[in-house]
Amino acid sequence: MSVRNVLIVGGGFTGLTTAIALAQRGIQVTLVEKVSAWARVGHGLTIQGNALRVFAQIGVIDDVLAVGQAENGVRLTLANGALLSEMQTPRTGGDDLPATIGALRPDLHEILVAKAEALGVEIRLGLELTAFETHGDTATSTLSDGRVETWDLIVVAEGIKSQTRAKLGITEDRAPSGLGIWRAVTSRLPDMNGGIAFPMADDGGAYKVGYTPVSADQCYIFVLCRPRRVDNGLEGWQEVRRLMANFHGEYDYLRESIDADTFLNFQEIEWIFVEGPWHSGRVVALGEAVHAVPPLIAQGAAQCLEDAVLFAEYVASDGDLEEQLAAFYARRIPRIKGVVDASLQLAQWEQNPGTPDADPGRVMGEALAALVPAP
Ligand SMILES: Cc1cc2nc3c(=O)[nH]c(=O)nc-3n(C[C@H](O)[C@H](O)[C@H](O)COP(=O)(O)OP(=O)(O)OC[C@H]3O[C@@H](n4cnc5c(N)ncnc54)[C@H](O)[C@@H]3O)c2cc1C
Repeated sequence: MSVRNVLIVGGGFTGLTTAIALAQRGIQVTLVEKVSAWARVGHGLTIQGNALRVFAQIGVIDDVLAVGQAENGVRLTLANGALLSEMQTPRTGGDDLPATIGALRPDLHEILVAKAEALGVEIRLGLELTAFETHGDTATSTLSDGRVETWDLIVVAEGIKSQTRAKLGITEDRAPSGLGIWRAVTSRLPDMNGGIAFPMADDGGAYKVGYTPVSADQCYIFVLCRPRRVDNGLEGWQEVRRLMANFHGEYDYLRESIDADTFLNFQEIEWIFVEGPWHSGRVVALGEAVHAVPPLIAQGAAQCLEDAVLFAEYVASDGDLEEQLAAFYARRIPRIKGVVDASLQLAQWEQNPGTPDADPGRVMGEALAALVPAP
């Protein structure tokens, strides 16, 4: 093994999981994160089985299942509450794991931080990578405190807005998906097990509304909509209520539970897929720095987590590092491309309701079924 110490840039799911997987293989890991304190509040996520499989591989599955709400299917309805179907979600992590869990991002994050710390990963908050150089078998980092250090490998896990990506010679950049999303964390009733509802006409601007339980009495709601906020003078919570106005049944309860104190945010959804090499010398980009998709099959984090563990396996094995990085990347590309193609197709259909031959259920089912075999 030629790699003894690694700098990881970014403390999201990619950076933390890579740190854990490398540390578990005896590699000394330092992680820098530009925020100066971890967020204590945040949104809900749907975590698919193949992400749970990674959590099992790194030894945190019991903690993850304890903070999440397991679901094996989702109820599809029209906005008026009429049932379209009860969709079973493929068990992408195998039969021993739930098909999905809903959980709050900070809860999952906290589990990963605790695991990384327990393994001796040095975490430095409030520091940014500002420059790097590669020199044969090493790479040098410059951090925002001016410190210059040398590593066997630097991992760029900076997310979709990565500033370092272009410095690696990567020419692809993030692009608009044509979609925006509101997310809110709110209360739910015990018999509300998750659903997605489709509008019956373009009467409010929502492409669809859905919710996922994240605990016994909480869920997160998402409203998929146009990428720009309408200039109507409404506060965020009032705008979400307006977008949900024509959604009924359990959505009446959810809409009424949103008020000025609800934790919510709006963002435009972007995507990126870097098909060329992800590394230059001893610096490599992983996770959303090189692949991010509209969250229409909820595979974003799962693909980042799969990167992390497979990457650690290659890096910690004997052999030429350049060849190992090339082999890792070649193995990841087809799997991620399947997720990217399906997610972009679904994003197109969301924006063009009534497209002849549109078949979201088939595309979603096939894309998830392809992920059942481990990467
Ligand atoms: C609206 C929305 C909904 C989603 N829903 C789901 C879902 O339900 N299920 C799912 O699986 N996925 C979902 N995703 C995707 C998922 O959130 C991402 O795939 C995942 O969080 C990406 O992790 P990451 O670590 O690669 O990047 P990030 O989470 O962006 O982390 C990058 C980190 O790097 C830090 N950083 C950046 N630059 C520097 C620097 N130079 N120096 C130091 N630190 C730096 C940042 O501060 C940040 O903490 C969703 C995404 C969006 C946008």
